[in-house]
Amino acid sequence: MSAYTRRHRDQSYYNKYKRDPIANAFYQSQVWEHMSARVKAESYNTCAICGHTYDQPGKLITDHIVPLRVDKRKRLDRDNLWCLCQEDHYWKTKLESQVYQSESLIENLDTAKRWDANECKKWVLEHS
Ligand SMILES: [Zn+2]
Repeated sequence: MSAYTRRHRDQSYYNKYKRDPIANAFYQSQVWEHMSARVKAESYNTCAICGHTYDQPGKLITDHIVPLRVDKRKRLDRDNLWCLCQEDHYWKTKLESQVYQSESLIENLDTAKRWDANECKKWVLEHS
């Protein structure tokens, strides 16, 4: 991946998440920081999709399998969290933007039931 592509991706990540003040506050909270560090440690800094292990936890992103914006109730559910490398997180986020339908929790309850770690992994491996 070129430096330009990487910068571009960082920017779209910024736009998607940092512009949402509620999500922003959550991702900066101490409870999330602790949970995120725990998930990375329990995963031995290994990406759940490609299986690559990193020496620095900062190279990995703790991701919500059922996305935060689809079901906020699962935001600190350990079973809903996995740790991904930046590349696979990019593709997982792409999958989210295809499946995610609206800001309404009611409309997204059905959508939330479709999120499954194995399905997400299969999709990313087929598309990345
Ligand atoms: Zn990976």
